[in-house]
Amino acid sequence: ERLVGASADGEEQAVEAALRPKDLGEFIGQEKVREQLDLVLRAARARGATADHVLLSGAPGLGKTTLSMIIAAEMGAPIRITSGPAIQHAGDLAAILSSLQEGEVLFLDEIHRMSRPAEEMLYMAMEDFRVDVVVGKGPGATAIPLELPPFTLVGATTRAGLLPPPLRDRFGFTAHMEFYAPEELERVVHRSALLLDVEIDADGAAEIAGRSRGTPRIANRLLRRVRDYAQVKADGVITRDVASAALKVYEVDSRGLDRLDRGVLEALLRLFGGGPVGLSTLAVAVGEERETVEEVAEPFLVREGLLARTPRGRVATPAAWAHLGLTPPNAAAP
Ligand code: ADP
Repeated sequence: ERLVGASADGEEQAVEAALRPKDLGEFIGQEKVREQLDLVLRAARARGATADHVLLSGAPGLGKTTLSMIIAAEMGAPIRITSGPAIQHAGDLAAILSSLQEGEVLFLDEIHRMSRPAEEMLYMAMEDFRVDVVVGKGPGATAIPLELPPFTLVGATTRAGLLPPPLRDRFGFTAHMEFYAPEELERVVHRSALLLDVEIDADGAAEIAGRSRGTPRIANRLLRRVRDYAQVKADGVITRDVASAALKVYEVDSRGLDRLDRGVLEALLRLFGGGPVGLSTLAVAVGEERETVEEVAEPFLVREGLLARTPRGRVATPAAWAHLGLTPPNAAAP
């Protein structure tokens, strides 16, 4: 796993659990989403009803799981957590749905990766709180209707556009989570440092925030690594110098690029004069698989405005030359 990767494995999620905000007030940033969700939940509570189904879209590590837990906490309801890939058959979903308690929150991560039959079962469950369980096979098969208690589905997906419209339309409230601003990530870092009992100053937090790719999960992960460095190599206090020295060891640069990202940019600039160059050629030059370059390195480089994908190939932007401290070949002599 990359230090700047946005996904977490099970082990990391356990470490993260301690850092999760417990209510909307503690949740940093995403002002619009928080304000809207607050209204949805307050109104449902006032009516004594179960909250509408909620769809959360956004990149990994932006707080979708955390928000689903907050929704449950704010509603005083239990929560069940599962994911699209874990639901292979409609029967898997029927088993989960039929065991829900009244008002329970069902968090379905990567909802766009559910199987088709499960998805169709979910339509009816969301709308009518009912499923048809098919018993038997062939001509003798019968559908037995099963009533479900009202529940709140919280679906999470990287992009709402990945969902079939009939599924998307069944959510009463859809929220898109944006990448976080540096100031918001600074607050995330300060809050986590407090919980981890680590001393950090404002510059130290800013340094970590600036390298965290707009993503709280990455901010928390970098903080843990910098804390290790501060304990071993410094007096335990995280300052700007300590944070930069630590992240130099881990090869995460001032903008949050790691070795792979920089390798791609450097090849593009040094070997191909900034492009355009085809993806395959670039991948060979970096010594990586095409998919790795395209799916792992490029999205962040594109988002940062360092690389552009054009019909003729990959092209570096002026910002890429500046970031690596190199001069474009056709730049006017000073
Ligand atoms: P996702 O489900 O979108 O992948 P998570 O909800 O698991 O993301 O969040 C990843 C980590 O980042 C968690 O440790 C969580 O505490 C932290 N985090 C996410 N969003 C926020 C936020 N708005 N404020 C504080 N911490 C956050």
